[in-house]
Amino acid sequence: NLNQIPEVSKPRYVRVNTLKIDVDSALLELGRQNMVQKDDVVPDLLILPPATDLHNHPLVINGSVFLQGKASSMVATALDPKPGWEVLDACAAPGNKTAHLAALMRGKGRIIACELNKERVKRLKETIKLSGASNIKVLNGDFLNINPKDPSVSTIRAILLDPSCSGSGTVSVRLDNLLPSYAAADVKDTERLNKLAAFQKKALAHALSSAERVVYSTCSIHQIENEDVIESVLPLAASYGFQLATPFPQWQLRGLPVFQGSQHLLRTDPAEDGEGFFIALFTKEDRINHFEK
Ligand code: SAM
Repeated sequence: NLNQIPEVSKPRYVRVNTLKIDVDSALLELGRQNMVQKDDVVPDLLILPPATDLHNHPLVINGSVFLQGKASSMVATALDPKPGWEVLDACAAPGNKTAHLAALMRGKGRIIACELNKERVKRLKETIKLSGASNIKVLNGDFLNINPKDPSVSTIRAILLDPSCSGSGTVSVRLDNLLPSYAAADVKDTERLNKLAAFQKKALAHALSSAERVVYSTCSIHQIENEDVIESVLPLAASYGFQLATPFPQWQLRGLPVFQGSQHLLRTDPAEDGEGFFIALFTKEDRINHFEK
C-alpha cells in the first residue's frame, strides 16, 4: 500500500542553482553538516539523507539551492534547452522548473514564463527573483491564447508544459486517497480527471503548434492524464514533424504499454521514487542532421 510508505524514508533532494553556485561548492558547503552525494541521473541534483531539514539553511534562503524533488528536476533536464535559446514555460507557477531552465541555459537567451493565475504569478516572481535569473519575462495570461505566429513568440525553440493535473502522484494527495491506482476511483474523480485531461490535450496540441522540442509532464499517476494525452496528440504531432524521443534512456520505468511507442515515455514510481511523475518528450530532430553531427 503506497500510503504506508513513511514520508521520512525518502531521501531529500536539492537542486543546485548553478546561476549562483557550482555543484561541487554546494556539495562541500552542505557536506559540512550532512551526508551529501550527487545524483546519478540529474547532474545538478544532490541527495541528502531522509528527514534532513534544510528549510532554514543559508543556501536555501539565498537561492543557491532549491528544495526540488528528483522527478521535478528531471523535466527541464529532459527538455535540455541550450544557452541562447528562446524557451517558453507554458504553465509556470510557482516557477521551480522555470528557474531550472534559466540555470540550464546559464542565464543566456530568453525565457517566457506564462501563468494564468494572478495570485500564483506572485509566487512565480518571487521564485524568479530568488533564482537570480534576469532573462525571464513573466506573462500573466492563458497559454492557449498565445498565438504561435506572433513575432514575440515565433522564435521559441522549446516549450516546457507542466499543466494543472490531479497531483495524484504526490504524497499529500496519496495520503488522502486510500486506493491510488492508474484508473479513476469513482464518478466524481472520473469527471474531474476528464476535465483535466481535456485541458491537458488542448494545451499539448497548442504547444506542438510551435517549437522544436516540447516536454510534457504531470505529477499524476493516472493513465488518462499521461499516456492517453500523449496518444491523442500523436497524429497531430506527426503532422508537424514531431516524434517521441526517449528522455533518460537509462531509466527503467517507462510509460504504461497502452500504445506502440509508449516505451519512450517516462514514469517515476510512487513506491520506489517517492513520487509518481510522468514525462514525455517530443522532438523534431532531423535524422540526416543527426548523422552529420
Ligand atoms: N511548472 C511549475 C513548477 O514546477 O513550479 C508547476 C506548474 S502547476 C502543475 C500548473 C500551473 O499551470 C498552475 O500554476 C496553474 O495556475 C497554471 N495554469 C493552468 N491553466 C493555465 C493556462 N491555461 N495558461 C497558463 N497557466 C495555466
